[in-house]
Amino acid sequence: MVDKKAKPFQERLGQALVEGGFLTPQQLEQARQIANIKGQRLTDVLQEQRLISREVLTTALSFHLKVPVINLRQIEIDPKVLELVPEEFAREHEVLPVALGPGGDLQLAMESPNDFELINTVSAMVRKTVRPMLPLDTKVGDMLDVVYKPTSQVAQQLGQTLKTITEAAPARALAGPVAVLEGVSDAPIVRAVEILTLQAVKSRASDIHVVPTADSAKVLYRIDGVLHTVHTIPLGIHQNMVSRIKVMANMDISERRRPQDGSFTLNFGEREVNFRVACVDTTYGEMMVIRVLDKGSIHFDIAELGLVESARQVYDRLIRYPLGMILVSGPTGSGKTTTLYATLNILADGKRNIMTIEDPVEYHFENVQQIDTNPAAGIDFGIGLRAIMRMDPDIILIGEIRDIETSRTAIQAANTGHLVLSSIHSNDSGSAVTRLLDLGVEPFAVSTGLVGVVAQRLVRKVCPDCKRLVAPTATEALAYEQEMKESADEFYSGQGCNTCSFTGYLGRIGVFEVLPVTEEIRSLIIQRATASVIKERAVKDGMITMRQDGMRKVKEGLTTLSEILRSVFTTD
Ligand SMILES: [Zn+2]
Repeated sequence: MVDKKAKPFQERLGQALVEGGFLTPQQLEQARQIANIKGQRLTDVLQEQRLISREVLTTALSFHLKVPVINLRQIEIDPKVLELVPEEFAREHEVLPVALGPGGDLQLAMESPNDFELINTVSAMVRKTVRPMLPLDTKVGDMLDVVYKPTSQVAQQLGQTLKTITEAAPARALAGPVAVLEGVSDAPIVRAVEILTLQAVKSRASDIHVVPTADSAKVLYRIDGVLHTVHTIPLGIHQNMVSRIKVMANMDISERRRPQDGSFTLNFGEREVNFRVACVDTTYGEMMVIRVLDKGSIHFDIAELGLVESARQVYDRLIRYPLGMILVSGPTGSGKTTTLYATLNILADGKRNIMTIEDPVEYHFENVQQIDTNPAAGIDFGIGLRAIMRMDPDIILIGEIRDIETSRTAIQAANTGHLVLSSIHSNDSGSAVTRLLDLGVEPFAVSTGLVGVVAQRLVRKVCPDCKRLVAPTATEALAYEQEMKESADEFYSGQGCNTCSFTGYLGRIGVFEVLPVTEEIRSLIIQRATASVIKERAVKDGMITMRQDGMRKVKEGLTTLSEILRSVFTTD
């Protein structure tokens, strides 16, 4: 939008740039003519014609207007601040709410910070003093796509649909779930749920959360492990939406207090997608979590996990042992199951009896006998494992080791001719070993039974379509230097685009350390050495740590520094 009042200022700025030696008078005149013909701002033309860089121009503007500059790509905007200015307004006027200052004033990034009329309008709208700021590193317009997405498309569609509900039949919409069932089977609420599920699949969401709060309900998508709010809905509609989903999932809609679960399947073209629904009553109403299981997108390939060549070789050797225990360790959501399943995929050749006890079975394999734990029937990991031991197995997978009984039986199985795969909740490779000892397993049994440990985390991959080189923060640069013994000025980071639903990330990759139990480590286990001593020994023998592996993936441009610092450098 061209602001006519801003023109005299643009003129003055042009003159100043000439006087400062940044432009020749001819260049200024040429840009002025283009600006007049096209009806554009002089500053925009100067940039488009590459007569002057954004940095120089912004710095000059900042100086003349006495307005501070801001690097928009390096800040995180509080959603509450974002909500102060509606997206449509922000787009029309090229403004972006950034933060609330100490005095409660609103810091607003603007393309024309000398547009006092606009400043007054925003100020009246948000009822706060507005402090204009100049974006140094990017245009406000480009940043809007990043901050108001990935949600705006869904929000828009949903908003439209929900508006028809409230406007056309406010009484009915608020009347409760019965109204949804009786007579309004093609009601907008059905359409709203359709939009929610379709958009979730399109944006690669793994879960949909419907969360009631005191005055509204939120709909969130988990994409690549991170939750994004996609819409806020009125509480009256929230209950109808929850009821509609319960009907689809064969759950009891009259029952609200008791936690329930169910599932439904939808076809999107050729793809069959399964939705697993769980709900629970909270103080503000029913909360729902819907897991999206897109069968078309699941495959387990060990080559795609993200193991570097040397670690992959060690792991390949470990899983070909005829007996012994291999543990995969990491916190919840670190991809342990995927690694175990990728391993089963290799081992399930139909020539050996492979049995699993899992909580729950997440994927069915050919040539593998899988058992679900079942608390109601009294089947836990320990009891399931003892049952498996009577079935003459060759290879056993135990979903998780977390108690003394299971860990003793598992180690015993490993010591008596079975290959045992399992997962354990621990921070790194060294502490997975000591965790077994802490549970109460005899050091000697561990030293002979355990053949190797994999520790891992999942990190988001940079979107290949919008990755750009950016400067790291001081903390990031320091962490990189410490692990890699070298420094770098720029690293890849996703700016957000359509491909990645404007998250800057697309898909995930594992960060690993693979510790083989060698003779030296065996004797350290018997001596009850600490986790760090065990890990140190492995590093001396050539193990790449998760931190090193993570930083290598940063260097290769696979992921970002902030992802590695968030997931690998923090302990739980
Ligand atoms: Zn992208």
